[in-house]
Amino acid sequence: MFDKMDQSGGPQAGGAGGRTTYQALLAADAAWKAIRTAAPGAAGPAPTFVTESPAPLGAAALQGADAFDAVVCGGTLGVFLAAALARQGYRVAVVERAELRGRSQEWNISRKELEELRELGLLTSEEIDAAIAIEFNPVRVGFHGSADVWTRDVLNLGVRPDTLVQTMRAKLEAAGGAVLDSTQLLGLEVHPDGVALQVSGPPPAASSGDGSTTSSNSSGGGGGGGSTRRVVARLVLDCMGHQSPIVRQIRWGVKPDGICLVVGGCASGFPPEANTTADIICTASDAEPLASCGGPPLQLFWEAFPSSDSPDSRTTYMFTYSDAQPFRPSLVDMFEEYWRRLPQYQGLTEEAVEQLRFKRLLFAFFPTYKNSPLPPAFDRVLQVGDASGIQSPLSFGGFGALTRHARRLIGALDDALACDALSR
Ligand SMILES: Cc1cc2nc3c(=O)[nH]c(=O)nc-3n(C[C@H](O)[C@H](O)[C@H](O)COP(=O)(O)OP(=O)(O)OC[C@H]3O[C@@H](n4cnc5c(N)ncnc54)[C@H](O)[C@@H]3O)c2cc1C
Repeated sequence: MFDKMDQSGGPQAGGAGGRTTYQALLAADAAWKAIRTAAPGAAGPAPTFVTESPAPLGAAALQGADAFDAVVCGGTLGVFLAAALARQGYRVAVVERAELRGRSQEWNISRKELEELRELGLLTSEEIDAAIAIEFNPVRVGFHGSADVWTRDVLNLGVRPDTLVQTMRAKLEAAGGAVLDSTQLLGLEVHPDGVALQVSGPPPAASSGDGSTTSSNSSGGGGGGGSTRRVVARLVLDCMGHQSPIVRQIRWGVKPDGICLVVGGCASGFPPEANTTADIICTASDAEPLASCGGPPLQLFWEAFPSSDSPDSRTTYMFTYSDAQPFRPSLVDMFEEYWRRLPQYQGLTEEAVEQLRFKRLLFAFFPTYKNSPLPPAFDRVLQVGDASGIQSPLSFGGFGALTRHARRLIGALDDALACDALSR
């Protein structure tokens, strides 16, 4: 499948589902293997990413050109919160390891969830319309051996993450916020009055001599050319997703209670007349061992959505939930199974599936923990989005979860920043 695609995989973005190359698949599989084969109690001491200091940073450091009320680390969902806070008058920066662009594969969402952003004044009706790539109805919920249920207006929009992220970036910058992209967060020191963040990259020319520092850094980071820079913030929002290095330290040595494995892709070549409806959750078989790797039975679930690319383009995902035992399938095993089962699921012949032209292949593993949402482990540092462990079985957390919680979250952050009530 990967051989048949454009080998560059198209533009790559940070964040869940942002990387679509074969190399990225192997890297994700190696990370998932390390989790499921980790011996209990053998993790050793946690890598130190966050430290705490009793010494205050001081008023001068908190007023400098590299000082912010809030620094949002991770820009996929983070840029929405950053823009909201900047528009309320806070000094805000986004630190994003990759280019801040948003992935090109659509997110599925319900209109009601998207409207939340309009009601909050974050998007206009025109901007919402521009972000909606496709709308379809009805949508199906179907379990093998029982009658299908057809419903309407649930996860029936495909929205463009790249359009949304770039729109929010423009709003953030228009409100005076800063975007430090291709910039990696390398570590944090939490002080009583603020947090010092070490990030890759040189300081801006304007900030020389204001207390920000640079030093040689052999570990490097995105785009930094080996030097590092210090920025300070009263509050750090950790929006770095499941791979957040802060969460890694907090959850060190704790095996996930569950894993969601997802593979799939967007391909053209489906019969257009059968590509007008969606499946939001379906099964095409009972729980059974996977032909690709054996092991105990697993229940496989499917999702399918028309794609805006063309009338014959469709996105199909196959996913499963399991524990993190060593014998669970790899993502490559899941792809083998996806390929084997796609004809039956979509009612196509094997020859027809061979003729599909895949534009993007998507894959991820989502660790889940009973201890979620993750309680804050440090003063002035809060996890939001996938980093917090919020999970939805249908959309795997994500954009819909952010919009549903946006009003409460933005209001609470405003209150907390306004009175500096930022202890854990
Ligand atoms: C195949 C697939 C399909 C999905 N479909 C949907 C859907 O239809 N609808 C929906 O709502 N959701 C969907 N999701 C879920 C959604 O994509 C994620 O939940 C969402 O991207 C989470 O956003 P986040 O900002 O919390 O984390 P992430 O998307 O993981 O973003 C984290 C960001 O942090 C950056 N980062 C990481 N480490 C550092 C560092 N050290 N320094 C600086 N930056 C760093 C990364 O580059 C990245 O940009 C899907 C996910 C997948 C994988």
